[in-house]
Amino acid sequence: GSILDGLCAQPADPLLALIGMFRDDPRPGKIDMGVGVYRDADGKTPVMAAVKAAEAILLKDQQTKSYLGPEGDARFAELLTPIIFGDVDAARLCGVQTPGGTGALRLGAELLARGRAGTRVLVGTPTWPNHVPLMEAAGLKLVPFKHFDVATQALCFDETLAAINAAERGDVILLHGCCHNPTGADYTVEQWNTLAPLIAERGLLPFVDLAYQGLGHGLDADAAGLRAVVAHNPEVLVAYSCDKNFGLYRERVGALFVVSDRAELIQSNLLALARANWSMPPDHGAAIVRTILDSPELTASWRAELDAMRLRILGVREAVAAHDPAIDLTRQSGMFSMLSLSTEQIRALREVHAVYMAGSGRINVAGLTPDAIPAFAAAVAAVR
Ligand code: PLP
Repeated sequence: GSILDGLCAQPADPLLALIGMFRDDPRPGKIDMGVGVYRDADGKTPVMAAVKAAEAILLKDQQTKSYLGPEGDARFAELLTPIIFGDVDAARLCGVQTPGGTGALRLGAELLARGRAGTRVLVGTPTWPNHVPLMEAAGLKLVPFKHFDVATQALCFDETLAAINAAERGDVILLHGCCHNPTGADYTVEQWNTLAPLIAERGLLPFVDLAYQGLGHGLDADAAGLRAVVAHNPEVLVAYSCDKNFGLYRERVGALFVVSDRAELIQSNLLALARANWSMPPDHGAAIVRTILDSPELTASWRAELDAMRLRILGVREAVAAHDPAIDLTRQSGMFSMLSLSTEQIRALREVHAVYMAGSGRINVAGLTPDAIPAFAAAVAAVR
């Protein structure tokens, strides 16, 4: 027998199955709110203008594709720093480029496991499904608390505070910096200002997942929670993704940053872990981001296009609520909201109305084109 005889088949990703069903649906008015990528008013996920321009520059000017180091493109990480952190003491910051926000989360999880095996990670649920296998694969133990009540569409702030107060010193708390996936329910500035000092007081280590900066309320507003956490806590991990706010998804662009008095020690561990995982990250996407952020013109173009994306999402949220006040999507931010629907209702939306969403009731608001909004609102009303 082979060692591989011990393997058992794994379930397929339900979202990928949904993509297949949508593709094979012949109905002309079908609506896809399943996949988690931005779509414009024509239903497209275009390459941003600044990205195209940066790629043209790279094609013309790039002299070599020789190896960088395990830290990837250092200038890329340096240019991102003020956008993410605002003013920050550079001596207390270290970071490496990673394959996407996913790579950053995994590297951060492994750093924590290296610090102490079996570390507990508090996480509000529902959360991005991949958080769970990712943290567990690194040897961490997840401790869930309730983040969002789907039936009442309310963020469970009391549960968050209770979880922090019940935690042990040295536990980690994983926080979505903005545009919570899958619920869109973010803490208010006041709530962040309560959480940030409480986390420090309770001796927890905050790990902030910032995957959608600029798609909620703007680049600075979307980082306000993270900055409050950094202001109050001696050590903070930040997993960052450029895949949504630069539209670079498949290029896998991200970074892990750590704020700490022992930045040098931590950086040496990040490099060792990166080497053991992927040796060095893929270059192209980070080179695009670096080229954009190194150019005032391209940066202005990127910011303007990102702002237009953000405003389109806000516009869809308002248009749906204007169409049917019973579907109030204006209290959440970013691409996602989670509707209070039963499995039966979600199936009826798909089978009867050709409206596709994740089995959890998560919808990608950007999946709605303007002309699809009435049909979507009518379909939800019909199944409720
Ligand atoms: N974190 C959250 C909350 C996400 O929703 C995602 C992607 O969907 C990621 C991290 C990972 O992003 P990336 O595609 O850059 O790996």
